[in-house]
Amino acid sequence: MAYQPDVTKFFALALDPIHVGTGGMRLGRVDMSIVREPGTHLPKIPGTSLSGAARTYAAMREEGKFPQCAGQGGHCGDPHCPICVTFGFAGTQNGSFQGLAQFSDARLLFFPVHSLAGPVWVTCPEVLKDLGITEAEPADEQVRVAGGVKQSGRLNLGWLMFDVKSNEPLVLNLPQVSQEILKILNHAVLVSNKMFGHIVNDNLEVRTSVSIDPQTGAASEGALFTYEALPRASVLYFEVVVSDPKFYRINGQIPLNGDIEKAKGAVRKGLELFASLGVGGMNTRGMGRLEVLNLKAGGAQ
Ligand SMILES: [Zn+2]
Repeated sequence: MAYQPDVTKFFALALDPIHVGTGGMRLGRVDMSIVREPGTHLPKIPGTSLSGAARTYAAMREEGKFPQCAGQGGHCGDPHCPICVTFGFAGTQNGSFQGLAQFSDARLLFFPVHSLAGPVWVTCPEVLKDLGITEAEPADEQVRVAGGVKQSGRLNLGWLMFDVKSNEPLVLNLPQVSQEILKILNHAVLVSNKMFGHIVNDNLEVRTSVSIDPQTGAASEGALFTYEALPRASVLYFEVVVSDPKFYRINGQIPLNGDIEKAKGAVRKGLELFASLGVGGMNTRGMGRLEVLNLKAGGAQ
């Protein structure tokens, strides 16, 4: 039988606005923009951000057993260290190792928008295709809506108006991993791929904040800055691929004694803390908490 790595799809709900910045300040509409996918310009969370946060939190959960393994450098590189083996290490006496767990980028799946019919979650065929769900693309001026969206005729999404195709209710066959997902599926709205990009980019949160001078504790001069964020209640998904340690050697030894569950456990422990400690920047400003919804079930395969 061919070797199959362990692939888990995770669904995640933003409990706060989430800002994963591009790192640089930029002139334009906002000072601090978020990371986007090159082709579609849709916001995403890079896999490196997910993996970095998961590594830090997984190391915290080990209660000081691997204090130097949490960050970017100074890894122990021990073949039995669940942090280094799972998330990778570099520059140790055992050399470098890519890590058994590889995180995909987190892509936007459902984007929350207020409408006259209450809150709805917008998605599009291009996004669903990645999850193996095929839906015909509506015309740009049309939408299909799920049963919980009590609106016939016309539906506004932000400032845009759409015709509701009432003869084709939207039924999305997604893993029903939580009550939140059930509610969202019941209030889903399918728009064209092009309109999805417009709706998302027109409805991102843009916040203005003041930067504080750390010396004086006062607002520094000219310190107002704006930043954008994915709104609370956005739903994203990502994949984590965990390779079998039996196929690797670190300094001649099979890492983690060949127990893939140790690596999967480290990933899970890290992801569990996303809901309380968050991802991305500005966590101290009440941002970034992301609840991974299907951790208890071990993820939808
Ligand atoms: Zn280590």
